[in-house]
Amino acid sequence: MKLLQYKHILITGSSRGIGAAIATLFASHGAILYLNSTNLDALTNLRKQIVETYGCECYILPFDVSSANEVKAGFKKLFTLTKKLDVLINNAGILDDALLGMITPAQIQQTFAINTFSIIYCSQYASRLMQRSGQGSIINIASIIGSVGNKGQAVYGGSKAAVIGITQSLAKELAHHQIRVNAIAPGFIDTQMTQQLPDDKYQQRLDSIAMGHIGQPEDIANSALFLASDMAKYVTGQVIGVDGGMLI
Ligand code: NAD
Repeated sequence: MKLLQYKHILITGSSRGIGAAIATLFASHGAILYLNSTNLDALTNLRKQIVETYGCECYILPFDVSSANEVKAGFKKLFTLTKKLDVLINNAGILDDALLGMITPAQIQQTFAINTFSIIYCSQYASRLMQRSGQGSIINIASIIGSVGNKGQAVYGGSKAAVIGITQSLAKELAHHQIRVNAIAPGFIDTQMTQQLPDDKYQQRLDSIAMGHIGQPEDIANSALFLASDMAKYVTGQVIGVDGGMLI
């Protein structure tokens, strides 16, 4: 059964990792895709792969989600392609760890701009489009670190804790438009973001997973599929942990 047939879906940060896995799964469920990231080459390759495999409509929208002006221009472009948006996945994010004494103002600005502010920028435009059709689903990719924190992750953890606050506030604000807003909080997932970690930190995170192994981007994509589809049509304001038991 195809769960997203003809649904128009924008996924930020979808050139690789979790975003690319969501795009691929959603294509197999009949979605019409709008793929964003700052990496034009990777986006072009992914689009080619998806169109060849699934024969679906798939557009690329390269823009920097941390820039309010670029987001505005990106949505203008989106509006020339479609007058309808059913689902927005706010997935773009960066990880830039530092212990407290080493954190720089530039690092704080950049991390919050990409991981947090972007969610408000994109949700503003997306929710206007969704209101036209009287329904929609916004899915924000948070992190387990936003709930429990971690040494060296004050900036990242803060930026992701804010994602949870934004999710719950927007869920309350947009519910009467039948726009659902939920978050997924991944644990430790096998992508380039985690592959860049030093060996000792990588092992430490692995050791904290009750199920004993790292998650795959497809594990996050499956939860996103549920939240994007009508299977979750009465679910809003939730944060779904997908972490192999890191929190139990
Ligand atoms: P990744 O580094 O593999 O991919 C990040 C994506 O975001 C890329 O497509 C990149 O081009 C894009 N991006 C970065 N900055 C951008 C910008 N300014 N504008 C537009 N696109 C931008 O990372 P991932 O592991 O796939 O992470 C995806 C999301 O999941 C992130 O929000 C991350 O914080 C979150 N997350 C990941 C894990 C994990 O273990 N991998 C755990 C918890 C949360």
